Amino acid sequence: MYIVLLGPPGAGKGTQAQRIAAATQLLHISTGDMFRENVKNETALGKLANQYMAKGELVPDEVTIKMLLERISRTDAKAGAMFDGFPRNVVQAEALDEALRGNGAKVDFALLISVRDAELMARLGGRWICRTCGKLYHEKNDPPKKHGICDACGGELYQREDDRPEVVASRLEKQKPPAALIEHYRKAGTLKEINGEQPLDAVTSALLEAIR
Ligand SMILES: [Zn+2]
Repeated sequence: MYIVLLGPPGAGKGTQAQRIAAATQLLHISTGDMFRENVKNETALGKLANQYMAKGELVPDEVTIKMLLERISRTDAKAGAMFDGFPRNVVQAEALDEALRGNGAKVDFALLISVRDAELMARLGGRWICRTCGKLYHEKNDPPKKHGICDACGGELYQREDDRPEVVASRLEKQKPPAALIEHYRKAGTLKEINGEQPLDAVTSALLEAIR
């Protein structure tokens, strides 16, 4: 069985991937781990990818795809795998389809953990820090008693650049699964959408139910 796990940043994809891997014994292939392994072992692809990552640039599709194809060609991936962080777009999805087809396999399920943008904004942003004592607050989960003022020391609260709503919104737009990718799996009839706004355990149960 091959599963693709999709979700925007803040949807809890990493946590759910680990839980599904533990519950199903499926091999968990995370793009992040794959990059790190290739860089650490100084493979040709790792060196190439590192040139982009060092500059803070996106690793080109062809490099990511080659690395992924190498990974799924190993014997431990023959019985199935769960992909986390891959594919990021339709080009990558088609490359995966083609590679699996070559092995007489396919993506059986594309699991999309859905969370509304407003909720993601609240999860990813909303962080405030005390300028004086460094205490952290969160607008939604752990707000100060008085807006903009630290409960502990009365200091002024501020937001880091990364936590400002406009920065969070632009990161979200760049990192969420593109509509065309979701459509790719919808058309293939493999898309299963899971409500990611439920408690963690309920999301895990719904994901496991979807692939049963
Ligand atoms: Zn303070």
